[in-house]
Amino acid sequence: MAGFNVRSVLVTGANRGIGLELVKQFLEKSNPPEWVFATCRDPEGERAQQLKNLASRHPNLAIVALEATDPASIKAAATRVEEHLKSSGLNLLINNAGIVRPSTLESETPEDMSLVYATNVTGPLLVSQAFLPLLKKAAQGSPQPGLSCSKAAIVNMSSECGSITNLIAWELVQVVSYRCSKAALNMLTKCQSLGYEGDGILSIAVHPGWVQTDMGRAGRLSPLGLSVQGILNVLPTLSKKDNGAFVNWEGKVLPW
Ligand code: NDP
Repeated sequence: MAGFNVRSVLVTGANRGIGLELVKQFLEKSNPPEWVFATCRDPEGERAQQLKNLASRHPNLAIVALEATDPASIKAAATRVEEHLKSSGLNLLINNAGIVRPSTLESETPEDMSLVYATNVTGPLLVSQAFLPLLKKAAQGSPQPGLSCSKAAIVNMSSECGSITNLIAWELVQVVSYRCSKAALNMLTKCQSLGYEGDGILSIAVHPGWVQTDMGRAGRLSPLGLSVQGILNVLPTLSKKDNGAFVNWEGKVLPW
């Protein structure tokens, strides 16, 4: 990870769970980014307290409001980030915010299908669209050839629950809306890889493992710190050959 020289990173859903741990580990690096943007729904509220504690110790951490289901909030976040970055671009966008709703095939509802899709698929689409000019600026300003996460990249936090081939843990949790949303997020990642490669932007879907967070309570759990450490070890190894792939926190390519 020492060789991972990313100047600016933005993490959505960063007030708890994997997002918060990503922010912590970026800040604790021996060569931390110049800017870490941690977005959450309510920066003033109690749920952002851990981020506020971190910001009091790390002047390179900026907390930005972003509600992933609200296009106006996403646009406002992009404007705020641009103000901080001044003339430079954003290197790494991590679409981490996500929700799961308990469900079975019998109990799944139209409301949850829509809400989970809006949060886990439309959210990353809109966030990527809003930050695209800043990602392009980072790619254009970089002397690095090819594609990399330190140049310009979109990381979509996916799940092996959305893999049609591997489809983990069906016997434990059906979570139909969640599985469908992550399969769709994988397709969005593939589309982004095709659409943005010419702009010098890498796109990747990452499965973080089954991790100890509010979301990942049941089943085969990996420690949160280890999962995020794994992700931060994998990201700097990615290049053009990985564009549009689906990988796990250990760097293994997963089937769609
Ligand atoms: P958590 O439930 O612990 O945290 C989810 C984060 O997303 C919170 O910060 C939450 O904010 C935020 N969020 C939810 N909805 C929105 C929204 N509409 N707008 C903005 N932010 C929102 O989840 P994890 O940390 O476990 O998961 C992070 C990502 O990793 C998710 O995409 C998840 O699908 C994926 N993942 C997790 C696994 C696990 O085992 N934990 C396994 C596979 C994938 P708030 O506090 O305001 O609700």
